[in-house]
Parts: sequence; structure tokens; C-alpha cells
Amino acid sequence: MAKQIQAIRGMKDILPQQSPLWQFLEDRVRSVLSRYGYAEIRMPIVEMTELFKRSIGEVTDIVEKEMYTFADRNGDSLTLRPEGTAGCVRAGLENGLIFNQTQRLWYQGPMFRHERPQKGRYRQFHQIGVEAFGLAGPDIDLELILITARIWRELGLRDLELQLNTLGTSEERANYRDQLIVYLRERFDELDEDSQRRLESNPLRILDSKNPRMASVIEDAPSLMEYLGDQSMAHFDRLRQGLDDAGVGYRLNPRLVRGLDYYSRTVFEWVTQSLGAQGTVCAGGRFDGLVGQLGGRATPAVGFAMGLERLIAMLETLDLKEQLPVPDVYLVMMGDRASREGVLLAERLRSALPTLRLISHCGGGTFKNQLKKTDRSQARYALVLGEDEVARREIGLKPMRSEGKQEQIALSQLETRLAELINRGQ
Ligand code: ATP
Ligand code: MG
Repeated sequence: MAKQIQAIRGMKDILPQQSPLWQFLEDRVRSVLSRYGYAEIRMPIVEMTELFKRSIGEVTDIVEKEMYTFADRNGDSLTLRPEGTAGCVRAGLENGLIFNQTQRLWYQGPMFRHERPQKGRYRQFHQIGVEAFGLAGPDIDLELILITARIWRELGLRDLELQLNTLGTSEERANYRDQLIVYLRERFDELDEDSQRRLESNPLRILDSKNPRMASVIEDAPSLMEYLGDQSMAHFDRLRQGLDDAGVGYRLNPRLVRGLDYYSRTVFEWVTQSLGAQGTVCAGGRFDGLVGQLGGRATPAVGFAMGLERLIAMLETLDLKEQLPVPDVYLVMMGDRASREGVLLAERLRSALPTLRLISHCGGGTFKNQLKKTDRSQARYALVLGEDEVARREIGLKPMRSEGKQEQIALSQLETRLAELINRGQ
């Protein structure tokens, strides 16, 4: 036998038994976003490498060591997208969406980063991202955070903490940066290799280091908050007030700087204790400089992205059986005539009851065998159509997941009876 080819390390299949949970998650998120007036945008998965270098920043983990970059046949350097914001801004600019008017956008799909695979960290993973363009005030920052809080609520997720910080404007950060470099130089020997290298090029990123060895250096670092001007402070205060008004709790985390270069002012993360080290399920912030950096007119922007694998891991700990769809009925057909009539009956039911989930048995076989398949399908009812039933113009309805006897129903009454049973408001 030929040797089987395996999937690429860190890239996982989402199997049929897992996809109902994924669909549950995606449906709930989509529903919230459409209720807030956000529209979906779909971008290509591959972009010019330059786009990510220019937006995410050369001196970041992603660009330095995580990108899947390759030469196209014509020699262009292309990259599988490691995140969605850069492509979203590119698409917005290229198609004239941004930025004379407000845009509320969202996207979803796979992202690619060549990281060390571990629980909650993969090389292909999935995000839903949300971005709002053209709005500079704290009100839209608040709206985005309220969206995330609502998403957790509607998914039934608890044990999530909102961490909040502000990075000020790029000028404010520049002043802070100088002081930070002075401080970090004093403790140079305690810095790990990455951080020593980044000391001059991107010292703020050092505060985002996940290396436990760096914890105390980071803890003692000067705080950016003291370098903020009045406007940045007012923006931040207004956001905090809005969160208080709405009853959304948060923790100030002055060390929260986020991995990408393009953030300014508000940054936030939602973190859970329940997933171990990979606890950040959603991260975002304001990126007022990015549109200009990518060649557009200066346009304020704010957004976030959630990591679906980590949210799925949280959802797996909940009991969602009642909320995940199973087939309503599995149609068992015995004999030629029943099989021929059964197909038409199934089509008739699907037209009459558009939300009915009905599996028609295929492949013949004994009654016992078909009932076994019914059971395996997790359908709530078996509909049993044999030669006798066809002759009497009726059908058997057998509950599979609850107590109760099989009933015989006139074929003419079947739609009405099923509508009662599935009770999905039709
Ligand atoms: P981390 O600090 O965990 O590396 P990050 O700051 O690199 O995260 P972002 O670029 O902000 O992550 O992406 C937003 C979200 O996407 C993260 O909060 C996380 O939930 C998810 N995510 C990021 N990288 C991965 C990955 N390799 N595998 C699975 N999920 C990921
Ligand atoms: Mg990362």
C-alpha cells in the first residue's frame, strides 16, 4: 500500500463531529455583528509580503519569524496572511471603501503563523476580526468592547477578564520610548536574546515578552501612562466611564502593549484562566496610523480579532447538547415501492417544512440495519415506511431519544404532525 501523506504540523482538520460547535460559534458571532450593523468583507488569503512588513512592522515576532513566505512563479514575494487587518485595510483602500465614510467591517477565516505548535497555538488557526474605520472617538472603542462582551454572554462563556491599556499617540510613545531605553540599558544583562536585539529597534515590544525570565524587568519598567497628554487621557477616561456605565468590568494592565506595531491609544485583550498559557481569546485596539502607513489618507481605525480555536476550547467545557443541531428525522424505507415513494415523500416534507432536518436512508438493507443507522445519526425520530404502510397510506413515527411508543400517522397528516414535533415556529 502507498504511504499515507499526513497533514502539515500545526494544521488541523475540523472534523464533522466538531463542526456543529464551530457553526454554533460562528453563527452566534455573525448574528451579533449583523445586529450592530457590521458588514462582512472577504479578502484573499495570500497578499504581497510587503503589505505585512509595512503594517505589522519588521521588528515583530510575526514578521521576523512566523510568516509563510514564498516566491510566486513570476518572482513576487507572497505571504499567507498571518492576520486580517493589513489585508482589510488594503482591500478598503483599493476598492475605495475607506475612508471618506465610516465603515464597520468584519471578516473571518484561516490565518497562518509558523509558531511552535502546542495547545491553543497552531500554524493554521482561525480568527473572526472586526474593524471600524473613520471614527476617532472613544465611543466606537466602547462599541467594539460591548460587542465582545455580548458575544461572550450569548455564547454562555464566563471566566473571561477584560484587560485594558492605552498606548497614547505615536509622539507620546516616542518620549516614553527614550526613557524606556534608558531603563532597559541599565538592566541589559537580564534581557533575553530577542529583547537585547530589540532594545534599540523596538523596545516597547520587550514589554510584551512572554518569557517568564523577563517578568521582573518588565514589572519595574516605567509606565507609559505618565507620558500621556491630556487628549489621550481624556479619550481613555471616557472609554473607562462608558465601560463602568455599561457594567463591563476590566483590569488596567499597563504592560499590555500588543504584538503588532500599528496600535495607538486603546488596546485590550480578553483573557481566560481556563486554557492555561494560551489564555488570550480576543485582542484588539486602535490603529490610527495604519491607513496612512499603507498609502491612504490618515483615517482613524479600531478593531479586534478573536481566536476561534481558543474559544472552541472554552465552549467544549460547556454542556451545549441542547443547542447543537441534530437531525429531526431519519427516513427508513423497506422495499422497492416504499423506497420510490419515500424519496418523493421526503422531498414533499422538505418543501413544506423548510427548517426540517431530514436524512433519507440510502442503500437499502434490513429494518434492523436501517434503525441502527437512524440511531447513529442521532436523529430524534425514525420515520418508518414499509410496504404495509404504503398500502394503508400511513407511516410509522418512532421516537429515538425519548420514551414513547411508535405512532402510525396518515401520510396526509404528516406535515402537521412533524411541524408540531419539531416546533421551530413554522
Ligand atoms: P499570542 O500572544 O497568544 O501569541 P498574539 O498577540 O500573537 O497572541 P493576535 O495577533 O493579537 O495574537 O491575534 C488575536 C488572537 O488570535 C489571539 O488572541 C489568539 O486568540 C489568536 N491566535 C493568535 N495566534 C494564534 C495561534 N498561533 N494559534 C491559535 N490562535 C492564535
Ligand atoms: Mg503571537
